[in-house]
Amino acid sequence: MQFLWWTDVFALFASVALSNPRFSPEIRRFIPQTSFLPAIMRPIARSALRPYVCPSCRSGRLSSRRRFASTPQQNPEIYDVVCVGGGPAGLGLLAALRASPATSKLKVALVETQDLEKARSWNLESHQFSNRVSSLTPSSVSFLEKIGAWDFLDTQRAQKYQEMQVWDGETGSRISFDWSMESSPFEDLRTVATMTENANLVRALLSRIAASGDENLSIFSKSTVSSIENGTDSPDGPDLSAWPVLSISPTDGTSTQGPSRIAARLLVGADGINSPVRKFADISTEGWDYNRNGVVATLALSEPETPTFPIGTRTAYQRFLPSLGGPIALLPLPNNHATLVWSTTAENAAYLKSLSPKAFIAIVNAAFRLAMPDLKYMMSMQRPATSVSEEFEDQHETELTWRLQHTPQPSQIPPMVTGVQEGTVASFPLRFRHASTYISPRVALVGDAAHVIHPLAGQGLNLGLGDVASLSNTIEYAVNHGMDVGDILTLERYTAERWATNAKIGGACDVLHKLYNVPGQGPVAWGRSLGLDIIDRVPFLKGLLMKNAEG
Ligand SMILES: Cc1cc2nc3c(=O)[nH]c(=O)nc-3n(C[C@H](O)[C@H](O)[C@H](O)COP(=O)(O)OP(=O)(O)OC[C@H]3O[C@@H](n4cnc5c(N)ncnc54)[C@H](O)[C@@H]3O)c2cc1C
Repeated sequence: MQFLWWTDVFALFASVALSNPRFSPEIRRFIPQTSFLPAIMRPIARSALRPYVCPSCRSGRLSSRRRFASTPQQNPEIYDVVCVGGGPAGLGLLAALRASPATSKLKVALVETQDLEKARSWNLESHQFSNRVSSLTPSSVSFLEKIGAWDFLDTQRAQKYQEMQVWDGETGSRISFDWSMESSPFEDLRTVATMTENANLVRALLSRIAASGDENLSIFSKSTVSSIENGTDSPDGPDLSAWPVLSISPTDGTSTQGPSRIAARLLVGADGINSPVRKFADISTEGWDYNRNGVVATLALSEPETPTFPIGTRTAYQRFLPSLGGPIALLPLPNNHATLVWSTTAENAAYLKSLSPKAFIAIVNAAFRLAMPDLKYMMSMQRPATSVSEEFEDQHETELTWRLQHTPQPSQIPPMVTGVQEGTVASFPLRFRHASTYISPRVALVGDAAHVIHPLAGQGLNLGLGDVASLSNTIEYAVNHGMDVGDILTLERYTAERWATNAKIGGACDVLHKLYNVPGQGPVAWGRSLGLDIIDRVPFLKGLLMKNAEG
């Protein structure tokens, strides 16, 4: 999903609410409790100061924090850059380094627990789609084009959208974004975002890396980093006492030999939320669990009732459902398919996953159409205990049909969902994490290792790709200027570019989650509706938000 505007909507809303004493105390009380402001104003964490302490002063603390090899071992193989994690962020970094003439000769390695061969040969029928899909902003797509990865993406499976409809399920307030006012019908409509399966992107990045050849490149697939330690100053080798040395073992434990050991001039943690690299570097994180799950599924849609103009325009829909714990979003995929992301409580997620396909489809259609009390009633309907009888399956459908007759339909709702692809209904816990810094001597963090945010704005992967673009530029600059790529002064530029940007977007998503979790028609609901209505009616504000949303 890609609703970056929400961050700006919030910034506008928060600044008005905080500066105006006449605003409801409920709204004013609410805003400072959120992560956004403390993220900027909190006391500086020790780990954030660490990069600024000189190595000799730091060494006392380092020796107790970083583990050292207890037994003498063979000298490790030395790499310029070692990346742990072969998700979109890690592979993106490797592809970027291989694409730039300045950095393509660096000796690089990537370590990934999963089998990358499976990712390389990932293939689905054209009418089937993975349930892990991300909306890539135009700037993410430009970056992927620049490094040559987009050429390897199966674009038949990706779907651009040009319009968004967002509304509040409690108050009905609505905001719509589309570029058609600004573009002529004869020119290509401007894209809000491009829906892309994560597996399609990972496969494209792997192909891009393979196309760069295998000189100076080692990929340790199906391999886990079992430990990271500082190296040693051995008399017969280089002084690696300030360098990270990784022990790598096959994930399936098949090897009879000891683990491979590699040393990194720069170690990059692209290893997700539980990042071992972040732990090694002793970088702390702030964060919390939302006690919400993101329910995802691949859906089939009916033909739209009214043809879109200009032809081929696709729309993303998001309806906030405060009484059910978060928004439901339907994002377009090719050929009248769509991906669902429904942020809701763990109980609701368990309920949705337990439904038969027919009942699941009925509930999703209800969630975009019914009033909150009707929807809540349907979410509390009994579900089959063991066997699913036809009669039982139809209860949700029958209930929806009956209730729809008595519910006035808002304009601009998504086409009816007609099918759900087997095996695609799944849920993921939603969390917020932000590392206190992204760098440490010879270490940098990117992607989810550095930050995990609420998916309501569809920004997680885009932020990760932004990190990768910035870090690869930083490394390129260092190479061009004869600097050490792992030196803290080199890496400073990267964290300066990314930390505050990511804090702002992650914090704003957090606030939106909280703002849209206040049920009922009280002052908070009134305030957020007012904000939406004002922005929807002031072309200048709306235009500003839309330009920002391009990324
Ligand atoms: C429901 C949901 C919807 C989302 N929708 C969007 C969206 O629309 N747009 C968007 O931009 N983002 C979205 N996101 C966020 C996005 O999916 C993530 O931010 C992104 O996938 C993170 O990529 P990454 O490469 O940083 O981390 P990961 O994909 O977590 O990759 C980390 C890799 O490190 C490997 N690893 C871990 N430990 C080790 C080890 N010890 N040794 C070796 N390898 C290791 C793992 O196997 C893994 O492959 C969504 C998230 C959720 C939950």
